[in-house]
Amino acid sequence: MNKIYNPKPETWRDFLKRPTKTIADIEATVKEIFSEVKTKGDEAVTKYTQLFDGVSIEELLVCEEEINSAKNEVSEELKDAINLAKGNIEKFHSAQKTERITIETTEGVSCWQEKRPIQKVGLYIPGGSAPLFSTVLMLAIPANIAGCNEIVLCTPPDKNGSINPAILYTAKLCGVTKIFKIGGIQAIAAMTFGTESVAPVYKIFGPGNQFVTVAKQIATKYGVAIDMPAGPSELLVFADETANPSFVASDLLSQAEHGADSQVILVTTSEKLLNSVEKEIEKQLQVLPRKLTAEQAIDNSKLILVETVSEAIDLINEYGPEHFIVVSKDEDFFLKNIQNAGSVFIGNYTPESAGDYASGTNHTLPTNGYAKQYSGVNLDSFMKSMTFQKISEKGIQNIGKAIEIMAEAEGLQAHKNAVTLRLKSLEKMSGRA
Ligand code: NAD
Repeated sequence: MNKIYNPKPETWRDFLKRPTKTIADIEATVKEIFSEVKTKGDEAVTKYTQLFDGVSIEELLVCEEEINSAKNEVSEELKDAINLAKGNIEKFHSAQKTERITIETTEGVSCWQEKRPIQKVGLYIPGGSAPLFSTVLMLAIPANIAGCNEIVLCTPPDKNGSINPAILYTAKLCGVTKIFKIGGIQAIAAMTFGTESVAPVYKIFGPGNQFVTVAKQIATKYGVAIDMPAGPSELLVFADETANPSFVASDLLSQAEHGADSQVILVTTSEKLLNSVEKEIEKQLQVLPRKLTAEQAIDNSKLILVETVSEAIDLINEYGPEHFIVVSKDEDFFLKNIQNAGSVFIGNYTPESAGDYASGTNHTLPTNGYAKQYSGVNLDSFMKSMTFQKISEKGIQNIGKAIEIMAEAEGLQAHKNAVTLRLKSLEKMSGRA
């Protein structure tokens, strides 16, 4: 791990760079696959599945029989764990429902806002290096609470052309309507344009590797909405001498094992803690089954010593981590001043894994600094706000003149006329009365 002592603010941007490829690196491949899926549909999807996943798939849609038999392949222990997580995620996301907002802005002018579900949504569930059935919970549960009526799921098949049973089991449990054996760029293209098998959706959700993330961004050019750019995972921990170094090391490794392109960072004001965490990482790394992957991510990662908590918070806000853990005697200072982070974990007993699986918050979060402008997935991500208004005769008389003046000033005569006609009609009626 790179150790950096008291870095000057002007150097932060450079060493905080993510190890991810940029859009430009991947864009050409994405565009080629998009264009082929658009014109050739399932044939192109099957071709790229063979190329990238190394398997030939005849039927992209997972059949009922396969979904039902998955139930028998998931242990009772795992089913119980999934159920506990499901309960907490449901509670947290149901609590995010909001009431209709109604207000009379001027006498006779009534305006209100209501939310409606996005009818057709597509969920991408990564499957390349780990079968992320937890992501099914994180996306399908809020989609269901929101009331989305078509919930399509795409995930890459394994070398035998199968989908992990835990993904199938969780998808059925959470009300997913159709499951497809499609991964990567070709999955995002299929959900964008539609193919013979896959109906197009209005919004695509879910994390994925850099190919998936760039494909989602390109999908927006074709009128499909996306949740956010959620790419390779990241974690930044601020810890001081009140933190348990072995806990901190375990948290850093928990994100490092996601992928070689993940990034983990420790920021601290205590050199003693920095050294203890470094030793602990070495120790814990040796026994991890995904040691090789974690080691590569650790190579991209940093242990940073700063002098003050003010410096620390400025650096953290500049980085905008996906996950931010804070274990500090100055906890309140960090909670008050953190501006850019996808999700925040507080204290020695709040590992980031809790949010990944079972505490109730969503784990689909903005990466690569996008926490500066994007929220993580939440109930509202699956809904749209619609506004309504009803204006009475009195109401149009109250605001009509202002509308006429503004329309005139913008040179939009037809806009003005729409009001003038009504005002004149009311004048006539009151004259007759
Ligand atoms: P994945 O499903 O995202 O990607 C696998 C697919 O990538 C394959 O099916 C294949 O089609 C495609 N692919 C592979 N090599 C390719 C190539 N050279 N060219 C074109 N396409 C190619 O699974 P993964 O690779 O395991 O990645 C999962 C990612 O999701 C990790 O980076 C992890 O950190 C991230 N993640 C992020 C969050 C978040 O909230 N931000 C949450 C969970 C996971």
